[in-house]
Amino acid sequence: MAEIERESMEYDVVIVGAGPAGLSAAIRLKQLDSDLSVVVLEKGSEVGAHILSGAVLDPSGIDALIPDWKEKGAPIKTKVTKDNFYLLGEGGHMRVPNWPMPPLMNNHGNYIVSMGNVCRWMAEQAEELGVEIFPGMACSELVYDGDRVKGVVAGVFGLEPDGSYGPNTEPGMELHGKYVFIAEGVRGSLAKELIAKYDLSKESGPQKYGIGIKEIWDIDPEKHREGTVTHTMGWPLGSNAGGGSFAYHAENNQLFLGFVVHLNYKNPYLRPYQEFQRMKHHPVIADLLEGGKRVAYGARAITEGGYQAMPHPVFPGGALLGCSVGLVNVPRIKGNHNAMLSGKAAAEAAYEALKAGREGDVLDSYATELKEGPVGKDLKRVRNVKPMWSKFGLAASLALGGFDMWTNNLFGLSLFGTLKHGKTDAAATGKASSFKPIDYPKPDGTISFDRLTSVSFSMTNHEESQPCHLRLKDPEVPIKVNLPEFDEPAQRYCPAGVYEVVEKDGKPEFVINFQNCVHCKTCDIKDPSQNINWTTPQGGDGPNYPNM
Ligand SMILES: Cc1cc2nc3c(=O)[nH]c(=O)nc-3n(C[C@H](O)[C@H](O)[C@H](O)COP(=O)(O)OP(=O)(O)OC[C@H]3O[C@@H](n4cnc5c(N)ncnc54)[C@H](O)[C@@H]3O)c2cc1C
Ligand code: SF4
Repeated sequence: MAEIERESMEYDVVIVGAGPAGLSAAIRLKQLDSDLSVVVLEKGSEVGAHILSGAVLDPSGIDALIPDWKEKGAPIKTKVTKDNFYLLGEGGHMRVPNWPMPPLMNNHGNYIVSMGNVCRWMAEQAEELGVEIFPGMACSELVYDGDRVKGVVAGVFGLEPDGSYGPNTEPGMELHGKYVFIAEGVRGSLAKELIAKYDLSKESGPQKYGIGIKEIWDIDPEKHREGTVTHTMGWPLGSNAGGGSFAYHAENNQLFLGFVVHLNYKNPYLRPYQEFQRMKHHPVIADLLEGGKRVAYGARAITEGGYQAMPHPVFPGGALLGCSVGLVNVPRIKGNHNAMLSGKAAAEAAYEALKAGREGDVLDSYATELKEGPVGKDLKRVRNVKPMWSKFGLAASLALGGFDMWTNNLFGLSLFGTLKHGKTDAAATGKASSFKPIDYPKPDGTISFDRLTSVSFSMTNHEESQPCHLRLKDPEVPIKVNLPEFDEPAQRYCPAGVYEVVEKDGKPEFVINFQNCVHCKTCDIKDPSQNINWTTPQGGDGPNYPNM
């Protein structure tokens, strides 16, 4: 094929991803020097369209970035007033009192927010400072200059279904930066390439993940308690997998209801989506939902590896930010504050470098700040909680994890040192022959729903004539390897029903309904053969979340 000719544009800093990390970096750069040229590229149709978070926001990030955020009208209004933690059994529940919880688990002082709306507001702040933001621009390729990253390719549209260039193909543009920040969130496709190319994970353990599925409900105002935060663990997952639910009473009588399943589960018959649907029938939750209406649905993976799984965040010409490094404090289920702080720290490092006339080199000061500054401190003190969950199961790890967080909190040390994570989540998947299929109840259509009905509440859309963005390294693997060995779990872990095994001419065939993909990235993480590569579809496609 002939060399593709693209126009290019030059910036001081190019930022991929308009989440809290990317937008914080953009804002900080312009606060430091209004003459810097900064561009943010976002694959969603608008800023916020692909943002999905809980979310209870620890305001330490936004406080550091925009101290007068209240006066500036940030959509951060609902203070947490009540914090509940329940252990669920099949019919009953037990409330765990707040007093044995380490102080870092306390949610008072935090806010219930829609991070989609917070990002929309942050984008306005960035634009007022002169940042250029281009939504609907998927960054599909990195541009290298020798050993350094020089930029990205964005805005390729109209490829033929086989991926070739046709009469309607727009080749996109190259956006070059003196530094390139990758803020794609969890399991970014460019971040994955960079981590492999520069071997950025060589000194950390494997990254760990969960899948988070979320619904927004308009609930009966009589049952709504604005500011109440509830977390649960236990039923229905039991010993099948780790995870739990969250229910946040947001403003406007809305309930942000979600369920996280740790992706290191072994049983390939497990269906995270159905576990969530089943959980909603527990009396503690069902009572809240009765008389209400589900108004939105979505899913997104969440990083869980924490401190010991952080890849080295810098490479020649750029940096990884936010959940591209994996900055979620897992027991607190909070990563937005660290995403913001990482964006701010990366911006400060780039500003110093540019001021000194440097470009395209390694921003070592950002790597040091991330590990030793507030983000590293936040993650270090909870570093053993996730490995304990994986090793000891729910009950023992609640006690041991709590003890470990207390010793870290009081004395700044852990008696366990730094526990390692075991295998990758893909490698943790067990053979189907060692497990029995799980019998899930049928959805009732009122509280619980089937997958495809749910997907319609994510407003997902993909132009059908484009190439499938879920690329199989070897198209034979799903039927020849995954089906006999794991009963092809993609049929079950995908929260959007993208993957099916159907019978055609008496033979099984693997079908990918890529149009339904909600960009959660679970397939890229959990496929036991690591045969699925999530790549960007054309810009603007994917979910259209309102206020996730
Ligand atoms: C279910 C769930 C519940 C959570 N609850 C909480 C909570 O209560 N509190 C909390 O603090 N944290 C919570 N988190 C974690 C928090 O959401 C993340 O830590 C945070 O979103 C990370 O921010 P980010 O900017 O790194 O990435 P993201 O918020 O994921 O933003 C990345 C952006 O980059 C865009 N993008 C990605 N790739 C490309 C590309 N190649 N080209 C162009 N654009 C691209 C995406 O579309 C997206 O808009 C939760 C996460 C989940 C999944
Ligand atoms: S295809 Fe993959 S990324 Fe898309 S919704 Fe399904 S699991 Fe998530």
